[in-house]
Amino acid sequence: MPTNLPSVHAILGTPEMQNLVADHGHTFVVEAIRDTLAAHRRLASTALSTVGSVDSSTESPAETGSAVPRVASLVAEVAHTVRQRVNPRMRRLFNLTGTVLHTNLGRAILSEAAVEQVANAMRYPSNLEFDVESGRRGERDDVVEGLLIELTGAEAATVVNNNAAAVLLVLGALAARREVVVSRGELVEIGGAFRIPDVMRSAQAKLVEVGTTNRTHKRDYESAISPRTAALMKVHASNYEIKGFVASVPEGEIAELAHANGIPFIHDLGGGNFVDLSAYGLPKEPVVREALSAGADVVTFSGDKLLGGPQAGLIVGKRQYIDKIRQHPLKRALRVSKLTMAALEATLMAYKKPETLTRDLPTLRLLTRSLPDLAALAERLLPHFRQALNEVWQVSVDACESQIGSGTSPTVTIPSMAIRIMPAADAARSASASRLSDALRKLPVPVIGKTSGGAVYLDVRCLEDEAAFVEQLPRISALLKTGK
Ligand SMILES: *Cc1c(COP(=O)(O)O)cnc(C)c1O
Repeated sequence: MPTNLPSVHAILGTPEMQNLVADHGHTFVVEAIRDTLAAHRRLASTALSTVGSVDSSTESPAETGSAVPRVASLVAEVAHTVRQRVNPRMRRLFNLTGTVLHTNLGRAILSEAAVEQVANAMRYPSNLEFDVESGRRGERDDVVEGLLIELTGAEAATVVNNNAAAVLLVLGALAARREVVVSRGELVEIGGAFRIPDVMRSAQAKLVEVGTTNRTHKRDYESAISPRTAALMKVHASNYEIKGFVASVPEGEIAELAHANGIPFIHDLGGGNFVDLSAYGLPKEPVVREALSAGADVVTFSGDKLLGGPQAGLIVGKRQYIDKIRQHPLKRALRVSKLTMAALEATLMAYKKPETLTRDLPTLRLLTRSLPDLAALAERLLPHFRQALNEVWQVSVDACESQIGSGTSPTVTIPSMAIRIMPAADAARSASASRLSDALRKLPVPVIGKTSGGAVYLDVRCLEDEAAFVEQLPRISALLKTGK
């Protein structure tokens, strides 16, 4: 042993550690003490093995291990370690990126009604698969099928873990070992891992590409249909747009062709919705009911994109196909939890009340916030930022553009307002946008913005908890100085 470190026992005996033991138990605290002591031992042995090569007088004892840390300083270290370890890895943050449905930041946030229903589903037993009236076993899908039928006009509906799973299951159930015809212009990749040709392969369906990247005609589908064809499929080009000399076949015509050949028309909408967003001045996105009335037999869409609910893959359509999809063994593997069901039911219920929809459903509330409201919010925040940051920084309110996100209407932006912060012209080079971004991310509730042209932009569209946000701003200057 290179150093005479205090014993685990000596540290554990201090009142601070005993308080921690009361909160977290003996095992957890002793592990933190052991790990802290081990780190010091490692430091001490590296210091010994490099003696002569470092000038230890310029380094602090903790860094070189050249002095034995005292109990008090070890106690502080252990307490810090324990605090860090009990902090959940997944925690809240402020999304000021301007992207409302940010996949990396958890996509849709849920309505209060959904949060409450999820909490109840977690706390108490529920009738997830139980018919309270008859006392018999029920179906998990029953929780939401009725609402989905009402909201979309479909004959039947089922739910899986996400839309990627929905597409996989639909193809596996309806097209395994047979062919599915898709336009070359729709062979989309979503966020790296989800690519239509790969999903086809996983479902053991054979992809038959028709047309070209920019133009696909009805005759292309016609000539691809054979006795091996299981379905015609359309995939919504969620995250890209092909412009210029383009042609695609109207859904109605693809549906007709499918039905004339006795096969289903499958439509993957990506982030479908139940309401036409153009009614709120937002870009038109596919409406599930419209896709069904245009002739689709099976429609798949995400729960946590524009719908504003939990992560889920919703499958609606003709009963004969939904029944077949339900019976596929993969369905059991891809089924959703009771938490998802609880959140989904509350989310769907919000759509039954169109008058209060943009108030109650956060995704639509944030997307429809008015520019004057956003400007007023930014102006209210401005003095707090000016106070928190010294004259090294220039802070102003600036117009910016929000995005829906999650590959929804990728070329459309929504006018919004941002706090813009950049180093003053004569500021030292250490005052950079990236240093400021680092400091903002180190706040107790991390603030995630965007940097562009040497400035940090904090789009206020998704900021609702103004008091909690303002309260932590005074910490920024210390974070900028010390990083702590
Ligand atoms: C987003 C998307 C998916 C995947 O949906 P997840 O719910 O993220 O799994 C599939 N298809 C399309 C067209 C999409 O836009």
